[in-house]
Amino acid sequence: MTKQHVNETRIQEMIEGIAQFTSTPGKGTTRLTYSEEHRGVRDYLLTKMKEAGLQTREDAVGNLFGRIEGQNPDLPPVLVGSHFDSVPNGGAFDGPAGVVTGLETAFVFQELGLKPERPVEIIAMIEEEGGRFGSGLLGSRLLTGQVSQQDLQELKDANGVSVAEAMSTFGLDPSHADKVALAADSIHAFLELHIEQGPVLEQHEEDVGIVTEVVSLSQVEVTVKGAAGHAGTTPMNARKDAMVGAASIIAKLPEMVKAVDDAAVGTVGRITAQPGGANVIADSVSFSVDIRSPSANSVAQIKERLNTALEQLQPSGLTYNVSEKITIPSTPMSADIQKQFAHDADSFGLKWRHMPSGAGQTL
Ligand SMILES: [Zn+2]
Repeated sequence: MTKQHVNETRIQEMIEGIAQFTSTPGKGTTRLTYSEEHRGVRDYLLTKMKEAGLQTREDAVGNLFGRIEGQNPDLPPVLVGSHFDSVPNGGAFDGPAGVVTGLETAFVFQELGLKPERPVEIIAMIEEEGGRFGSGLLGSRLLTGQVSQQDLQELKDANGVSVAEAMSTFGLDPSHADKVALAADSIHAFLELHIEQGPVLEQHEEDVGIVTEVVSLSQVEVTVKGAAGHAGTTPMNARKDAMVGAASIIAKLPEMVKAVDDAAVGTVGRITAQPGGANVIADSVSFSVDIRSPSANSVAQIKERLNTALEQLQPSGLTYNVSEKITIPSTPMSADIQKQFAHDADSFGLKWRHMPSGAGQTL
């Protein structure tokens, strides 16, 4: 297959065809899992898969598969695809670019009459962003057997609707959800093209990033506790102000990260204060800390520095608690596939670099 076989107009039509299913027309793509927009794209993708000659199937939770039969149908397939949900007001390429890559591959195989040695399955996954239920990578975690029936009952959207309830309303049967898991040896490889979610390639005017590993990630929730008091009547030297303590830690985070590892990143994206009144000293402040690096050791070291900084709050009468929310080890990508991608990028005259993926992936 060469560049000439790929139909750029068809790719553009599919990207735009998917983007029309949004609940926020004119303001980006908003497509939450098990919504009417989800149903619209699902029907669109199944139609396109059939046009490309694929055998289609929707698994029990709504992940879509389109299969190109292999010369040897018993060999484990190569999966090609990405997700088709979006964050609120997201971009048209985030997710669909990878699904459309798979679809275009299928169209070209059909036009050239190619039958691959092993089966190829185009895959479009649900709820990768966590846009509706707040739990990212749900589609791929279901496919890798990491979600229980209890999780499906407990994970709820902003209106209190559980994943299981939403599935039933959509027409799927949540009692079959645990049957969707694929055994590791039933997949030969998984290929995902994804738009870069950072500025590195654009800054360097490069076309392609070949992912070396998905970075190690740790999310913790820090709570700093002090004592509430009236903002007007409590003298400055008699305060145990949890907000001041939390703010000092947050302000130090960039230095803590840089001191350990140039490739690491640390983010506080959410903060809540109790009791939350403008005229009340906060007695409890909780904030999220998200730390990522290609090196799991760096992530651990940054967490140690965070703990040391928190201990230093104690002389001012503040206490603290750190609770672990998510820990994901770094996941190396196949060296053989990286080599093949580099070779192919060179042959197409594309500028490329190796880079870690700072965004999570689980397959
Ligand atoms: Zn994405």
